[in-house]
Amino acid sequence: MHLIYIIFFFALGACVGSFLNVVVWRLPRGESLVTPPSHCPKCNHRLAWFDNIPVFGWIALGGKCRYCRSPISARYPIVEAITGFLFVLYYVVLFIWQMGPCASRDLTIQQDWPLYGLYVFTIACLLGASLIDAELFIIPQQIPILMTIVGLLVHTIIDRPALPGSLNVSARAAGLSAGAAIGLLISLLARWQGWVKISFPEGEPLLEIDRQMMLEEEEKAKREGRAPEFDGPIPPPYTSAQIRAEMRHEMYFLMPPLLLGGLFVIALMKVPALDHTWAHWMSYDWINGLLGALLGGMIGGFVVWLTRILGTIGFGRVAMGLGDVDLMFGVGAILGGATATIAFFLAPFFGILIAIYMLITGKRRELPYGPYLSMATAFVMIFYCPIAMYLKPGMLGLVSLINHWITGNDGGLSGL
Ligand SMILES: [Zn+2]
Repeated sequence: MHLIYIIFFFALGACVGSFLNVVVWRLPRGESLVTPPSHCPKCNHRLAWFDNIPVFGWIALGGKCRYCRSPISARYPIVEAITGFLFVLYYVVLFIWQMGPCASRDLTIQQDWPLYGLYVFTIACLLGASLIDAELFIIPQQIPILMTIVGLLVHTIIDRPALPGSLNVSARAAGLSAGAAIGLLISLLARWQGWVKISFPEGEPLLEIDRQMMLEEEEKAKREGRAPEFDGPIPPPYTSAQIRAEMRHEMYFLMPPLLLGGLFVIALMKVPALDHTWAHWMSYDWINGLLGALLGGMIGGFVVWLTRILGTIGFGRVAMGLGDVDLMFGVGAILGGATATIAFFLAPFFGILIAIYMLITGKRRELPYGPYLSMATAFVMIFYCPIAMYLKPGMLGLVSLINHWITGNDGGLSGL
């Protein structure tokens, strides 16, 4: 029975990979994802449906366009095959190896298909974001936003405390989430309305080498009387002191969520009537699941953002991009704050592995952080339960202590 599912999910994954190829090319260039249909980039001839069949279409064509015979990059079938393979891998992980989230019963595709769907959706998003980030050093916000919406929706609909992978939390942790979420809305509104300044209003500092390239391109474009091949003005050079000073604005942004989250928890602890009413509302699984997913997203984003602020103040140059903050917000909203946090701390090890690989193969190339975060997340998704068990006496012990202090009981750990 497994074999039929595995063949089906490989095919499904390969089709998703085919769509990812389109996304990776068109999304950062602001092109529509649906129109025009696939066409040869050289001769613009529209592809027949059978040329579009993942992996096999490319092989049948011998890697060349049917009409103009110009070569088609092997990258397309490779991305399709990798996506198909990953869809199979997470099927095997969840339903054959019985790994992934901690579960008190066996996982089956019949019962746990929403969990599997959430997993492969996450993997597809991470792969797309990594491919774009590796090439262009940006993570388009649409990807983390889509992850967050899907995470919040699915956890609102399916979460039950006993369900593997659910993000249900204790009533007071849900209170922390609700307070912080209101604070986050206030911060977003303030930034949107321009009540507070954003950091680096003239653009984030560039690497010296990129700056040099942009200056040369600008010079060349002026000579040839055309527009330069990049958008907007070149950001000014910043001194370390200026870069550190800009972090102040980002700290202001984080204040309302931190303050309101903390205040609401204190209010719950001090006002028994409020605590009682709140606990009653939080006994509804859907609102609890929604706030649990929201808390996961905020924890995932906060850990990266705090590191960015502290690292930037410490080193006087920008550490981590805001795109990484967005990405881990999306990861947290789907997989919970603990997965996002553990993945964030494991990411540097994947950076080292890739650096060693590049050293051996002689490919020297600078990589942004998004791919490392994605690899670490994919890793934690497989080994979450053993890692959580291992950390329980230490890190989760600390969490449990705080949790115990807030809630007076040991519940709600599953969501963290
Ligand atoms: Zn062609």
